Amino acid sequence: TDVTELLLSRIRDVPDYPVPGVTFKDITPLLADPVAFAALTDALADFSVRHGATKIVGLEARGFILGAPVALRAGLGFIPVRKAGKLPGATLRQSYDLEYGSAEIEVHAEDLAADDRVMVIDDVLATGGTAEASLELIRRSGAQVAGVAVLMELGFLEGRRKLVQALDGAPLEAL
Ligand code: IMP
Repeated sequence: TDVTELLLSRIRDVPDYPVPGVTFKDITPLLADPVAFAALTDALADFSVRHGATKIVGLEARGFILGAPVALRAGLGFIPVRKAGKLPGATLRQSYDLEYGSAEIEVHAEDLAADDRVMVIDDVLATGGTAEASLELIRRSGAQVAGVAVLMELGFLEGRRKLVQALDGAPLEAL
């Protein structure tokens, strides 16, 4: 569609970043274009509302940039999922495997309630490890998963397949 073309045209491929052999998808040109940024926000908000979300979770850090305007547009609260050690209150913490070593993310426990349906927003789904850990946090909080919505999915890394179990039938949208 026209929106897809517009969004794609505002994503920059950066070769050999952050390490040789990797092509990084840079969304800063899209953020700098208010028409593209609004189109992205609207599409993610529509998807969230359509699937009955009551809260928006954004994944640090680009998921904050996208998730906050999506939450406002959808009329929903925004909840940050942060790298471990950044949130001051009582948290739930989840660790997940990286190619080398592991990482940990956290959410404020009081931000998610059993009657919430949570949409997870991020820019890029790569291996799916970060999104999978966030779904695990949501599940452990007792809330429901409404879905995962990203700007783009790097299909060759098969993150979609990794998320099948954690999604448990909830939708994964990659614009
Ligand atoms: P995953 O856990 O391997 O799916 O990695 C996803 C996380 O890494 C997301 O939070 C993304 O923001 C980030 N990420 C991975 N690859 C890229 C990329 O090419 N561009 C921007 N962010 C990326």
